[in-house]
Amino acid sequence: MRATDDRYRNERIRLELALRLIGHEARTGTIRYLTDLSDDRIRKLYASYFKHDASPVRRRRGKSPSQITPLVKTRELRLESSAVVALMASCGILDGERRPTRSAPHARLELGQRLCQTHETYLAMVAEPRLSFESLWNLYRNLVGGDELGSHRCRDCQSWYVFDALALAGDACPLCQT
Ligand SMILES: [Zn+2]
Repeated sequence: MRATDDRYRNERIRLELALRLIGHEARTGTIRYLTDLSDDRIRKLYASYFKHDASPVRRRRGKSPSQITPLVKTRELRLESSAVVALMASCGILDGERRPTRSAPHARLELGQRLCQTHETYLAMVAEPRLSFESLWNLYRNLVGGDELGSHRCRDCQSWYVFDALALAGDACPLCQT
């Protein structure tokens, strides 16, 4: 019976994470990647739990955003992106050097749960949040797998911050910048 129990538990974790991600208005492709559920299962979950809510969540289709400009275009955005990266480190998906702590396929469920935890903490902290769940997902993917987004520690204030690694003048610390 142990194997059946484990399968049941695993399935429940997948469904719970998918519902949490739908609530965050994550895109179907993101939910599929993080939970390994099929598009059909995700569509049915959305239809049974969210479609007839008083304030329905939007179901987002299409590809997740991958451009880094919306994350670093202004000083305010760089401050918020940097704060989110610090939250990712405190939620255990990035280490102290802002490198990924988990990348194995079997750890996607845990990555998904910790990304939700990061976004929920961010929403609780910031009065007028500018970054959606998909922005966080984009930030994470660019930081761990791309070369356009840089992150380093300011020599003056010791804060970690993110910047556009391809922009010539884009790497000033948003906290020290006036
Ligand atoms: Zn600084």
